[in-house]
Amino acid sequence: MKLLIASNNAHKVREIREILSGYFDEMVTMREAGLAIDVVEDGATFQDNAVKKATEILEKSGFDAALADDSGLCVDALGGAPGVYSARYAGEGHDDAANNAKLMADMRDVPDGERTCRFVSCVALARKGMPVLVAQGTAEGTLLRSAAGENGFGYDPYFFYPPLQKSFAQLTAQEKNSVSHRRASLDALRQALDAEQGER
Ligand code: IMP
Repeated sequence: MKLLIASNNAHKVREIREILSGYFDEMVTMREAGLAIDVVEDGATFQDNAVKKATEILEKSGFDAALADDSGLCVDALGGAPGVYSARYAGEGHDDAANNAKLMADMRDVPDGERTCRFVSCVALARKGMPVLVAQGTAEGTLLRSAAGENGFGYDPYFFYPPLQKSFAQLTAQEKNSVSHRRASLDALRQALDAEQGER
């Protein structure tokens, strides 16, 4: 089966290719397939958005399988915000720096012991004539008060990961990919695919 990866983010695509190799005959990105399909991410949850993206792109592309993901940062002291609004926390059209500045302002008065948070990734695999498979993964951490590290993207410089005693932006791509929320969701998807095979 040929899989359409509903992402053009090079980091995500490399991770998906690595983790799901062996499960599909071929994997292509939207760009490689010459497709530009825009899906409005207006769901209330990561799962809603991932399922909507995967099913709409499957339908519009004519492929047999499409994989989509949605991810973000959930901060306990903010009731789970920015959550599904992670990419546009500071408003539509703002960048990572603006999102991080807003997050730091919102968290200014929150004491050190109450700065727990997690990155969440939800992946959805839509296939013609088959049920949609959904899997979720998390990475638990705490929010720093100032940026640390140069790698990664988004909220990485402020996300401290206790098991490695570093921020996500202080990890190499390889280190981050081995412990990230996306790694966890893709591993869970692989288990779901294995379980499905076992049932046949
Ligand atoms: P999307 O899943 O590509 O829509 O990402 C949503 C937003 O969540 C991104 O723009 C980032 O702000 C944030 N985000 C998701 N995953 C990560 C990560 O691994 N590191 C840092 N920020 C992330």
